Amino acid sequence: MRGDAITEVTKDVFLVAGTSVNWVLLRDGDDLTLVDGGYPGDADAVEESIRALGRRPEDVRAILLTHAHVDHVGALVPFHRRYGTPALCDPREVGHARREYLEQLTPGRLVANLWRPGVLPWALGIVRAGATRDAAVPHVEAFAADGPLDLPGAPVPVPTPGHTSGHTAFHLPAAGAIITGDALITGHALTRLRGPQLIPRIFDHGPRSLALAGLDPLAAVAADVILPGHGPAHETPLATAVAQARAHG
Ligand SMILES: [Zn+2]
Repeated sequence: MRGDAITEVTKDVFLVAGTSVNWVLLRDGDDLTLVDGGYPGDADAVEESIRALGRRPEDVRAILLTHAHVDHVGALVPFHRRYGTPALCDPREVGHARREYLEQLTPGRLVANLWRPGVLPWALGIVRAGATRDAAVPHVEAFAADGPLDLPGAPVPVPTPGHTSGHTAFHLPAAGAIITGDALITGHALTRLRGPQLIPRIFDHGPRSLALAGLDPLAAVAADVILPGHGPAHETPLATAVAQARAHG
């Protein structure tokens, strides 16, 4: 893990940069919530990021998922096996996380896009990180539907279906921050665009209109600090960021 991989974006809220994807640690005293878990090959880096905060993997009360793409679920099974850590997601994402069905870019479609600028080096990096491995999370459970979760950081799920059917953002009202997952990102290896934007459409499960609709629930959330699934943290009113992402389409 690079020395600059961990950023305390706001008090007790940490954005960690893994292999072309981020995860988030929320700290409350000795306890942590982990949001997303990188690629399968990032599991040890997730542990490292926890130890870098002076905490142990056993201090993670639960792992929350924004959505069940392979670059977000990597640490979930190893943590469950090693430490018994529970994994939670939106009820509509449970079947996807258990791999009863898949809403993810297939290797075939990825190969068909290898000619695009930047795709090949990125693809080699993520394959090394386990992008083609089985990413089923059989132990995942649904979290309660409403209000703040009883976990460190008190994250409030904000359903943002679009990128996947059960995609969820997590609002941190006390911190004035939001974890947007892949509903809204700020940079990606496959685009030169920087700042608030939708993820390149090759990764969307459905048509672009669905991903755009996934921005709607965010527009009403009061937050000024954005922690995306891809790209650096960004400080701007969320409504402004949503408008920027919509404008890029
Ligand atoms: Zn995704």
